Amino acid sequence: FRVQISPLKGVKHKKMGVVGLLTDVTERRKLDQMRTEFAANVSHELRTPLTSINGFVETLLDGAMEQPEIARNFLEIIHSEGKRLANLIDDLLKLSRLEDRRNILHKQPVNLADVIQKTVKMFEGLAQDKNIELTIAIPEDLPSVPGDAGLLSQVVVNLVDNALKYTLPGGKVNIAVNPQHDHVTVAVADTGIGIPPENLSRVFERFYRVDKARSREMGGTGLGLSISKHIVEAHGGKIKVTSSPAGSTFTFTLPLEV
Ligand code: ADP
Repeated sequence: FRVQISPLKGVKHKKMGVVGLLTDVTERRKLDQMRTEFAANVSHELRTPLTSINGFVETLLDGAMEQPEIARNFLEIIHSEGKRLANLIDDLLKLSRLEDRRNILHKQPVNLADVIQKTVKMFEGLAQDKNIELTIAIPEDLPSVPGDAGLLSQVVVNLVDNALKYTLPGGKVNIAVNPQHDHVTVAVADTGIGIPPENLSRVFERFYRVDKARSREMGGTGLGLSISKHIVEAHGGKIKVTSSPAGSTFTFTLPLEV
């Protein structure tokens, strides 16, 4: 609590008493702390690929450039770290745009079947390369949902991307859509590595990863699920996850009414 006490004066500045003001600053403190943590996380996440890029460039300048095989290998690493930086900056921009409350969604009827089919097309090649069976189950008479097609497509892309990333070759990923009376449920289920129960509640937090090294190796930023949660909630829906060592299912709902 913050305590403020000021004298209460009446006519001719005669003292009449005191006024005490107690302000609950717990929420504000928490917000300040979250902001500080976020800034520290962002700096760390940006610095990691930059340190790696600088290290490889220095080694190249120190002579590694003379050996074409090694030089090529280093340049590939520099290129992939550069792409990771760009992804991170893109994700940070998306997050800050979503957090800007003035940025109200312009909802229009969205054909979810269309959004999902396009996403699957996008990932078909990757699924084939990894020998993962990617399937969809969408009913014929799916009603359209009020929303922002671009943002909803981002949610589906993030979930399918993760499902493919964290599933081993020979596994399966299925996207199922189910309309209920006042909402639609979309479930992305995989037969992947799963998420341990103690980590489950934290996967929607910014930068939280169960296995940092693995996520980085896969080109992850640790922001995808946090962005997805923001988007779903901005549409008035909810997102949740269930998981076991046999795989994970991410489910989100979207209301049918504006
Ligand atoms: P990332 O860019 O690291 O994938 P996300 O925010 O998308 O970041 O996910 C956060 C973490 O949740 C991941 O690092 C991973 O540990 C875990 N995760 C997300 N989706 C899955 C999944 N389908 N199977 C297993 N773990 C997952």
